[in-house]
Amino acid sequence: MAKNMCRHHPEVFASGVCKQCAIPICDECKTVRPQGIFCCEECADRFAAFQDRIAVHKGTGGGGLVSLLVKIAVLAAVLLVAYLFLHSSYGVDSPADLPGAIKSMISDLIGLFR
Ligand SMILES: [Zn+2]
Ligand SMILES: [Zn+2]
Repeated sequence: MAKNMCRHHPEVFASGVCKQCAIPICDECKTVRPQGIFCCEECADRFAAFQDRIAVHKGTGGGGLVSLLVKIAVLAAVLLVAYLFLHSSYGVDSPADLPGAIKSMISDLIGLFR
């Protein structure tokens, strides 16, 4: 198979590929939608329905607890990394050491731009 020929016109080179079923199609056969190029209306509708399902899933429906747990885990990881950074770079062992560490960090940052 050297070249992609249109699925419906074996003598015509395909100008695109259906986004839903990956069939090569020519200009005459393709159905153009905002979502992309499709071989037929059915594929376009199926792809649009699939996109809608993703949009619904990303929205308010389901996964609320999971996304909350993910947010907490990310926050904890950020705090841990920040703590390890402050601990190794500025010797912070307790929250009481933070003000001094932040001051020296700020002076370090100012030093970077001088
Ligand atoms: Zn298709
Ligand atoms: Zn065609």
